[in-house]
Amino acid sequence: MKHRPSKDEQAYWLILSQDKLVQLSGQSCLIEQKWSELHFLSAYADDVIKVGEYRQQNCYVIDLGQEVPDRDNIELINLRAALMSEARDAFNILARAWQVALFLRTHRFCGQCGSRMEAVHWELAMHCHRCQHRCYPRISPCIIVAVRKGEQILLAQGAHHKEGMYSTLAGFVESGESLEQAVHREIMEEVGIKVKNLRYFSSQPWPFPHSLMMGYMAEWDSGEIQVDGREILAADWFDFDKLPLTPPPFSIAGQLIQATTNRVPQ
Ligand SMILES: [Zn+2]
Repeated sequence: MKHRPSKDEQAYWLILSQDKLVQLSGQSCLIEQKWSELHFLSAYADDVIKVGEYRQQNCYVIDLGQEVPDRDNIELINLRAALMSEARDAFNILARAWQVALFLRTHRFCGQCGSRMEAVHWELAMHCHRCQHRCYPRISPCIIVAVRKGEQILLAQGAHHKEGMYSTLAGFVESGESLEQAVHREIMEEVGIKVKNLRYFSSQPWPFPHSLMMGYMAEWDSGEIQVDGREILAADWFDFDKLPLTPPPFSIAGQLIQATTNRVPQ
């Protein structure tokens, strides 16, 4: 997992600082350079982690933790903004890199006995040599569902959405629950309706902080909308040609809305 870079290797580099990504001014946060050109990172040579490939080149992560590089031509960008501004094919490597870095940050000590953990060299895991407890990056399954009623779609304003933004319903899968049970339960809890004819749509890793969104399409079966007032502030049926502000198309929410209504999200 750890990787000692050779100085001539051309690769993509993702640099984390605090809760942001580092980018050279006006450029991508996927920094395409040789290791020997990244002088300001030379102190971190032992902390390079390979997270995958991007455009046929290796992609490495360096987590500076709370350090901020002391350089003029550097900007810090948050992950959401990076996902919006980078090319669509960068989504997965960004999502993965971010989650790997957060995993390593939060698993330095064993959750079972409190000893210091060490990275496993042949797989992405942290291991405690005292009690043999081993941890893998956490993935939290979530369902996300577009509900249709004739030529209308159910969209809701979540408590955490930016103002005026309406999206599909979503929620975490609970222990012991199937994905389909989670869909039915979340919809009932959040807006008080029953749905039928569930169809799997697609999935998307969602690195805020480590969700795996599993998308479904469903049809209204019975019941009137009654919002729970905690997670959902407002919800309504929207005509396909009169949609409110909805999530961008790089998100699975945007793609679900697009597929249901045949409209490109704004
Ligand atoms: Zn332990």
